[in-house]
Amino acid sequence: MQQIFAQRPPTGFIGLGHMGGAMALRLLQAGFPLVVHDLSPDACAQFAAAGARIAASAREVADAVQVVFLCLPSAAASRAVATGPKGLVNGQTLRVVVETSTVGPTAVRQLGVDLAARGVAVVDAPVSGGPRGAQAGTLSMMHSGAAEAVAAVLPQLQAIAGRHFDVGIEPGLAQVCKLVNNAIAAAGMVAACEATVLGVKAGLDAGTMLDAINAGSGRNAGTLDKFPRSILTGSFDFGGPLHLMLKDLSLFIEEASAHGVVTEMAPAALSVWQRSVDRLGVAADYAELIRPLEMDAGVEVRSRSATTEPRNP
Ligand code: NAD
Repeated sequence: MQQIFAQRPPTGFIGLGHMGGAMALRLLQAGFPLVVHDLSPDACAQFAAAGARIAASAREVADAVQVVFLCLPSAAASRAVATGPKGLVNGQTLRVVVETSTVGPTAVRQLGVDLAARGVAVVDAPVSGGPRGAQAGTLSMMHSGAAEAVAAVLPQLQAIAGRHFDVGIEPGLAQVCKLVNNAIAAAGMVAACEATVLGVKAGLDAGTMLDAINAGSGRNAGTLDKFPRSILTGSFDFGGPLHLMLKDLSLFIEEASAHGVVTEMAPAALSVWQRSVDRLGVAADYAELIRPLEMDAGVEVRSRSATTEPRNP
């Protein structure tokens, strides 16, 4: 066992939040020696305790290892980490950057250009499945990049995600796939919140209503997962920040506009998401999307018999 672990190449990870922290921990548990960096001292302290080496900057990570994963909240953060004064571009050892953040195709293509000048390849590898999927290693990962770059990081990708979808050789394509996924997830979540609030207001029991939906044609990722775990229970602990969907929907609308594709559902979903962030703040959980709708209707979509497990059909 120790011999297998000894063969795992040292790997860098920058961005140790809800998703990145869980993915980095999986790498550590799979035997990859980790060099990590995050602006949050608390996040770094947790990884120091778990056995990772803490780097003071992205450059220090890129000096130490050939492969660096990014899991950051925005395109601006990713750019700062890559090209800032203490950024990845100035590191001496780095060969491949794996961008797992959702930052859109334009940002990833720019990252590729910035790093290509230093002989560094980019693998575009956004993920879906939330913090719980990241902890369990069951994430779905879309990836695009040069075949040799993807092959070089395959052991790490396999340690992080349960399902892998190769969507092409151009970094940026995987971001498009992720934005398409999230536009559907965001609209589905809005539809589920709006409709179930009406159901409870009109007299239905929330738990029975959800069971009927999940055995019927209305089910979606929200009704199957977020509702039973975090809304019916009132725990609102899905794990992902509510505000991140504003970025994803805005990037989707921007991409659609660049391709001349008309969108009506995504802007409508974005306005509902925006209203919830405005009323609850940036610290609110993803599942709290429903709370302003509940407040306005004067009802709560809760069930005493709710389980914390997803209700699969
Ligand atoms: P998060 O806010 O929990 O974590 C982001 C981390 O990055 C924080 O620890 C922060 O301190 C760190 N950070 C920010 N700027 C930095 C910088 N310049 N240098 C170093 N560290 C920096 O966000 P998250 O939920 O982990 O999401 C991260 C990415 O994953 C986002 O792009 C998001 O869209 C994507 N994603 C999130 C989910 C989800 O459910 N949360 C699911 C799939 C994909």
